[in-house]
Amino acid sequence: MKHRIVVLGAGYAGAFAAGNLARRLAAADTEITVVNAEPDFVERMRLHQLASGQDLAFRKLADVFAGTGVRLRLARVTGVDPERRTVAVTGEDGDGELAYDTLLYALGSSVAHHGVPGVAEYAFDVTGRSSALRLRERLAGLGGGGTVLVVGEGLTGIETATEFAESRPDLSVALAARGELGAWLSPKARRHLRQAFDRLGITVHEHTGIEAVEPARAIATDGTSIPADVTVWAAGFAVHPIAAASGLEVAETGQIVVDRTMRSVSHPDVYAAGDCAYAIGENGRPLPMSCASAGFTNMQATAAIIARLTGGEVPTVGLKYYGNHISLGRRDAIFQMVDGDARSKSWYLGGRPAARLKSGVLRGAGFGIAHPTFGMPKRRRRLTTAPDRAGVRVAA
Ligand SMILES: Cc1cc2nc3c(=O)[nH]c(=O)nc-3n(C[C@H](O)[C@H](O)[C@H](O)COP(=O)(O)OP(=O)(O)OC[C@H]3O[C@@H](n4cnc5c(N)ncnc54)[C@H](O)[C@@H]3O)c2cc1C
Repeated sequence: MKHRIVVLGAGYAGAFAAGNLARRLAAADTEITVVNAEPDFVERMRLHQLASGQDLAFRKLADVFAGTGVRLRLARVTGVDPERRTVAVTGEDGDGELAYDTLLYALGSSVAHHGVPGVAEYAFDVTGRSSALRLRERLAGLGGGGTVLVVGEGLTGIETATEFAESRPDLSVALAARGELGAWLSPKARRHLRQAFDRLGITVHEHTGIEAVEPARAIATDGTSIPADVTVWAAGFAVHPIAAASGLEVAETGQIVVDRTMRSVSHPDVYAAGDCAYAIGENGRPLPMSCASAGFTNMQATAAIIARLTGGEVPTVGLKYYGNHISLGRRDAIFQMVDGDARSKSWYLGGRPAARLKSGVLRGAGFGIAHPTFGMPKRRRRLTTAPDRAGVRVAA
């Protein structure tokens, strides 16, 4: 019997992890299955571009994993039973159950509504492909002079507002920020950001929390009404409640609490990577939900799984937070480095060089997923312990 590794989610963390595992573990005694709800690898980092009307081709997961030995199961995960070591799925073939010996949970995140009235009913978002396409259609039907309000001054809010303002100069785009726009950036980068907003004609409502969304406006906490034919909710990400419901130990955020090797602290057969892992970085703080964190955490998780199954020592992968790379439309961007305490350094890169760098980063991430076994050592390592479905098959 082979050791069954099931990877949940084929996003930045899961797809890369599955390829890495397939490349480095011998197919003779491991079986790797990836479960993903969508047939394509969706580049979430480009979804604001998709919503703004750009044509993006997403690669089929079947092509991504062709020839790697990874089995692809297109289905939605509906539950995990870590005691029985099973995953409940539902798909075109109906409901089913997958058994695992080792689970890598990488289901990512979606929009956080924060319980604000009207968001679920009337607001749009860019956190998933279907919601981004819904927004794209709405924007395409919005005539010149239409009003768009982006709620949230985080990276997604800034990228979304600037992308829309650049691609649709006929619209009136505004952004609602709870605090000051770009408050976390270095003074020079903040100035750059404000100049970009001015150039693109984006109105900024600072110190403005939104407490309700209606079909044609949003209401701020001080009662101000902000006209919005389209409200785009970009006030944070939330993880799927599956992990919490399964009995895995989770943080307040619902993310799976993991140790330094990305192994669940409550269930040693389960690992987590990407947005859904509550992983503490080198600076003692939880890693931010980001593509970079998805990279570090999936590499650490796969290194730990391989080492424990093959009797090696678990290597340590650096868990650093280097900074933010923010697109400001297609021709401008800000690359802001941070120090060990996550404070912005005074140096930043802006303008076209930063935009070119960001575009290279996006292409690199896309290439990494499209070729999930590229550059990996080809050593296919055999498992050290005898297959044992009932017991623990870890060597350390
Ligand atoms: C518009 C936008 C711009 C962004 N820009 C940046 C950026 O510039 N830099 C940066 O670092 N980060 C950025 N991010 C954040 C980044 O995209 C995420 O942190 C990253 O995608 C996390 O990777 P992941 O693998 O954990 O999750 P995901 O990439 O979300 O992958 C999760 C996978 O799980 C699948 N899935 C989810 N639920 C289920 C289910 N129930 N059953 C089966 N499959 C399921 C999904 O289909 C998906 O394939 C951006 C995000 C957005 C939305």
